[in-house]
Amino acid sequence: MNYNIYFSLISFVYIVLLVIVFFSKKRLRTIENQIYQYLIIVSLTGVTLEISQIFTCMIMDSIPFLNAISSRLFLVNILAWISLLLIYTIIVSFDKKYYRKFAFSVLGIFGVCSLGFLFLPIKYYFEEGKNFYSYTYGVSVDLLKIVSIIFLLFSIVCMLFHLRELLTKKYLPVLMYTILFLITGVIQIMEPTLVLTQSVQIFTTFLMYFTIENPDLKMIAELDLARKQAEKANAAKTEFLSNMSHEIRTPLNAIVGFSQSLSEEVELSATSKEKARDILMASDNLLEIVNGILDISKIEANKLEIVNTEYELSKVFDELILLTKSRIGEKPIEFRTQLDSSIPSVLYGDYVRLKQIILNLLTNAAKYTKEGFIEFKISTIQSGDICRLIISVEDSGIGIKKEKIDQLFMKFERLDLEKNITIEGTGLGLAITKKLVELMNGKIVVQSVYNKGSKFTVAIDQRIVAKSQKAQVVEQQKQIDVTGKKVLLVDDNKLNLKVATMLLEKYHLNITQVQSGFEVIDKILAGEKYDLLLLDDMMPKMSGVETFKKLKGIEGFQIPVVILTANAISGMREKYLAEGVQDYLAKPIDKAELEKVIMKYLNPQK
Ligand code: ADP
Repeated sequence: MNYNIYFSLISFVYIVLLVIVFFSKKRLRTIENQIYQYLIIVSLTGVTLEISQIFTCMIMDSIPFLNAISSRLFLVNILAWISLLLIYTIIVSFDKKYYRKFAFSVLGIFGVCSLGFLFLPIKYYFEEGKNFYSYTYGVSVDLLKIVSIIFLLFSIVCMLFHLRELLTKKYLPVLMYTILFLITGVIQIMEPTLVLTQSVQIFTTFLMYFTIENPDLKMIAELDLARKQAEKANAAKTEFLSNMSHEIRTPLNAIVGFSQSLSEEVELSATSKEKARDILMASDNLLEIVNGILDISKIEANKLEIVNTEYELSKVFDELILLTKSRIGEKPIEFRTQLDSSIPSVLYGDYVRLKQIILNLLTNAAKYTKEGFIEFKISTIQSGDICRLIISVEDSGIGIKKEKIDQLFMKFERLDLEKNITIEGTGLGLAITKKLVELMNGKIVVQSVYNKGSKFTVAIDQRIVAKSQKAQVVEQQKQIDVTGKKVLLVDDNKLNLKVATMLLEKYHLNITQVQSGFEVIDKILAGEKYDLLLLDDMMPKMSGVETFKKLKGIEGFQIPVVILTANAISGMREKYLAEGVQDYLAKPIDKAELEKVIMKYLNPQK
């Protein structure tokens, strides 16, 4: 018996296992995968022919025809496998434009050679001592050897073109095969009766399964790549939106400032004032959108932080009522409100975000309800020092279709557009609301009946600081005279300087304007004295924060510094305060906020 049969039988078991595993799994329909599929099939036919050859050799003397067929087909099969491997190498190495030409040339050569294998002379080596035919030789075998070497050389050339990727998974099988081919070549020259070709090919096919052609690995790798690309695109989009929003805030600052001042102008006619108020309202809307985009960008970049402080919920509740009433306006809507009487007087949590969450829900209720009622309730469940706030906002508005509820919290999703077309919105409010609730470890649920109304309920835990209502001494802000106080106003943008000066006009201050941090430093070094420094942050060459850091280094520098910035993303305030500045004002400058700052830092009693 020919001992080569043992190699063949082991190879057969392996390849059958591979066929079962490979074909029983879902595969990607890529060209590489298809080639690999053929490679497996050719490996299976190869090992079958190899085994059949061993048996037909045994009966060669009586039926030579059978052995002739199997050994010639075996040669065809070996070249088929090598051709496929070369095509595979070409595909992973070249562009689609070129590889077709190369691949067809390889197939052409394979076709011509196959004819040669079928008709050129073939001889069988008869081992006298062992009394069996062990291998074939002759012109057809020589042809196979020559073509195989040429094909392999071509594979090596392909690899040389991609030297850097040589050790990557896609080239590993080709590299391995080349090395094994050379080793087996040497072995077979020394020991020609040992037939290893098929085993080497099957080993390579097997290796390929575990490197690049394993459908699981490939699928995971491709999905991973797709996910990364999608994330990258999303991040780029978010950054773009965030930059744009920031850019929009600067001109918006001028629009809000001037229209505010116009609407208060005494000599202006009523219609002009009305127009100025309309501009103001439109810019407020625009500001709301820009803030929404900035918020969602921050949330998506995981940069939004929850800032906990002590606060009085009843105050927040009252403010929300006022804001919602103005939003409802003249609509025939009954606005019912109810605050749990047992609510602790002072809570600990992020009231700014809590207010934003509730305001979003109340604004939506006001937007999407034409008539009927809006009910805003806060009840509590208290346990130990934790107070669970159950906030509900119910309306008798247009309601939401059941099948659309899932889309409700997705960003930029607006539902029922045929009805809502006249209602302003971006589809960001609820997406932000949900993320904020989650950031505060809370829950939000919706109940809605289409055409009847909706109810949004939020549950958020807050820590209790003080249970009972404290007797509060309301500190009445006295209107104080700050006339003549010296203020240094710094902004690189002339229009912004104009807006700020206009807003400060009524305080009769002594304002000096400069357009860069360098000028500020010069003035301070020259010994000029100021009572307040209003410093824009986003300035070319030297930012406000950088200027502030330099000022801090100047001996005896004591002037309170308030940073002005269009960078109003939530959390910015804390960042600036951490830098050491006394306060922060977001642009467009809010009149009330500005007043607070003026009172706080220019108060003569302080
Ligand atoms: P926006 O109001 O800016 O469009 P939101 O994210 O706040 O964005 O809301 C998304 C969509 O959900 C709205 O466009 C609207 O179709 C629907 N929606 C939200 N709140 C209500 C409500 N109270 N009643 C009916 N539909 C609502």
